[in-house]
Amino acid sequence: MTSTSSDDCISCGRATQSGTSLFSDRRTTRLEDGTVLHLCGDCNERAISHFGRRPGQRDMVQIAARGAGLGLGGGHGGMGAGGGQGG
Ligand SMILES: [Zn+2]
Repeated sequence: MTSTSSDDCISCGRATQSGTSLFSDRRTTRLEDGTVLHLCGDCNERAISHFGRRPGQRDMVQIAARGAGLGLGGGHGGMGAGGGQGG
């Protein structure tokens, strides 16, 4: 048994399960093998900015596989914008 939670955001790792502040805005996709991926609202917006559209299932898989590699991790990553997007 592992302790991996399937309700964590695939990008930033924050819990998105029912009852959390991230639950209402999270984006969920279900893969053919039954794997369920969740993307929190913040990361979903970053993904839209990154892809130029709403992330589809394949994009979600890519985010899950590469994580912060897409620069979606948020926080103090610093994309050089220097501007706070508040929130
Ligand atoms: Zn997230």
